[in-house]
Amino acid sequence: MNEAVLAWDGQEKAVNHLVQERGQRAVFCGLTSIVWLHRKIQDAFFLVVGSRTCAHLVQSAAGVMIFAEPRFATAVLSDRDLAGMADCNEELDRVVGQVVARRSDIKTIFLVSSCPSEVIKLDLGNAAERLRRTYAGKINFVDYSGSGIETTFSQGEDSCLQSLVKQLPDAGNEDPSLLVLGTLSDIVEDQFRRLFEGLGIGPVSFFPGRAAGDLPPVGPGTRLLAAQPYVNETVRSLQARGATLLRAPFPYGAEGSQGWFRAAADAWQVPVTRFREVIGAPLERARLAVSQHQSQLTGKRITFLPDSQLELPLARFLNRECGMELVEIGTPLFEQQLMQVEKSLLPETVRLTEGQDLDPQLDRVRRDRPDLTVCGMGIANPLEAEGLRTKWSIELMFTPIQGFEQAGDLAGLFTRPLTREAQLKV
Ligand code: SF4
Repeated sequence: MNEAVLAWDGQEKAVNHLVQERGQRAVFCGLTSIVWLHRKIQDAFFLVVGSRTCAHLVQSAAGVMIFAEPRFATAVLSDRDLAGMADCNEELDRVVGQVVARRSDIKTIFLVSSCPSEVIKLDLGNAAERLRRTYAGKINFVDYSGSGIETTFSQGEDSCLQSLVKQLPDAGNEDPSLLVLGTLSDIVEDQFRRLFEGLGIGPVSFFPGRAAGDLPPVGPGTRLLAAQPYVNETVRSLQARGATLLRAPFPYGAEGSQGWFRAAADAWQVPVTRFREVIGAPLERARLAVSQHQSQLTGKRITFLPDSQLELPLARFLNRECGMELVEIGTPLFEQQLMQVEKSLLPETVRLTEGQDLDPQLDRVRRDRPDLTVCGMGIANPLEAEGLRTKWSIELMFTPIQGFEQAGDLAGLFTRPLTREAQLKV
């Protein structure tokens, strides 16, 4: 672990050219992000305006959770709606009325559009405005797109957060504040808060917060630290409001977490001695926890198929801290401003692809035969049947993996399929 690499000086190496692929994709749509968003924002309700297919998708993605009163639902567009024979707005108002009557605990309702509602051009922006007026002072309404047309599942969260940015109050001054972007589990958020406090960095807000009404002020003093790699449009909207993005790796593993905190510490001019005092012990714990998995991972070859947008930071962690060999890293979307630090930390020779053309990509996996392929659920089973070990990328979205204390668990997620294979061979 080399501390020097974490002092970002704006001189990152220009490495790895990126090959763009366009073709058949196999990625869940943005509705999937409702599963982790509704867990985080505890007084929000997500109302998808879509078809029965959308309802099944959300239901099965969240199927592992049994709720007496779930905080998501689908207003199903029927044939009459799709044929333009019914007034969808009237229907929507009726369904919203039902939700409001049943759920006094709900403070914000997200109206989430889907492929069918976008195809019939149902304007949920207008609907949200109308409903905000109707329920003024009681319930907030926000609209965003979770449609699978041109978007992948982690972009659903980006779209949700971006739609909330216009409701953030103006800071009204240039006093420095830190805004951490992207959904984190409560346990990780609490750990991060304690470390920022120890470093004397503040005020700190997490976006999204635990309540939909936690809307942090934004202005020229706002410094943005992305905790998730898929928040690019939200970053752009916040930059348009005067905020500045801090360049950092993502907080995966000991090294990534150290670099992430270091970026904030540099912006707050925290002395190096204090940084070491606060970060030293968690950093050592993280290194030790990761080292427990190294013998199993070192030298193993891994391919990432494009799915979650977590691919580059995960690949960096597995390569630099766990000794894995990177065969190919596919990502659905490469956003320069969020990924430039991560890209500069990858080996120069690694194959990087953006977008997807499924068949040629699978051909490459079959030819390369990596020890592990990180991919979507739909691709995993066929590859397993061909004797290739896989890891579902969506599992990484539902598991707390950020920060020092989770570094060992993160490495463990990748040893598991390899251990299973070893056991099957015995
Ligand atoms: S939004 Fe589109 S891709 Fe997603 S479940 Fe509905 S129809 Fe399918």
